[in-house]
Amino acid sequence: MTAPMVLAEGVRKRFGRLEVLKGIDLTVERGQVCCLLGPSGSGKSTFLRCINHLEKVDGGKLTVDGELVGYRQQGSRLHELREREVAERRRDIGMVFQRFNLFPHMTALENVIEAPTKVAGVSRSEARDQARHLLQQVGLGDRAGHYPAQLSGGQQQRVAIARALAMKPKLMLFDEPTSALDPELVGDVLDVMRRLAADGMTMVVVTHEIGFAREVGDTAVFMDEGVVVEAGDPRQVLAEPEQERTRAFLSKVL
Ligand code: ADP
Ligand code: MG
Repeated sequence: MTAPMVLAEGVRKRFGRLEVLKGIDLTVERGQVCCLLGPSGSGKSTFLRCINHLEKVDGGKLTVDGELVGYRQQGSRLHELREREVAERRRDIGMVFQRFNLFPHMTALENVIEAPTKVAGVSRSEARDQARHLLQQVGLGDRAGHYPAQLSGGQQQRVAIARALAMKPKLMLFDEPTSALDPELVGDVLDVMRRLAADGMTMVVVTHEIGFAREVGDTAVFMDEGVVVEAGDPRQVLAEPEQERTRAFLSKVL
């Protein structure tokens, strides 16, 4: 049996005296889309950052693709990962943030080929071909030569998705990818994510887009104050939540 893509068991994280994650249990199977919802400050971003080696877990167990985050197992002993090893692991994980974080002085195409050529050692010509293909996939085949400032927020976010995909990740993390967008630009970004999901990408998506979570999510997880309050089939969790806290949150965002 293969391990789930993400497995969290009692994951804890604190910043000084503030305990932000108080024992998160969560499983994301391969090819599944897990939508994470919850009020601001509940620890969603921190949890994504733990998955992506950007924060150290303080307690519990967190594995990605069967490997313990932050550690390498040798026989029965655990060794903390070296910086280079962390970088290697992170290559397999794509992350898209609320703010698009494109390199402003590079065109869309240059943004997409940056990591494959600089980090993965792909030749420029091969990376360019692949980038053109990826930009086409996100509906921006005709914008390859544009700079971020010449693109709308939604287009920039789609370039950011193409850039993440260029490293051929096995897992994609999205942290409120549409929250900073004008409403009319949200749909195109969600469409790209929907297609990615249909193509079998494993995704963890922090979002307030309830419709997306319901249609695309295999699971919905409602977090509040560092704990998972409720998790399961999105149609259940989002339509007929069992917990009062989930109901209260949904009534605010719907
Ligand atoms: P969410 O994404 O659900 O809004 P976050 O994970 O961003 O929640 O934050 C959870 C809590 O952790 C918040 O109270 C936030 O202020 C705090 N926090 C996040 N990152 C840090 C940090 N680097 N140092 C101190 N506190 C942090
Ligand atoms: Mg957040």
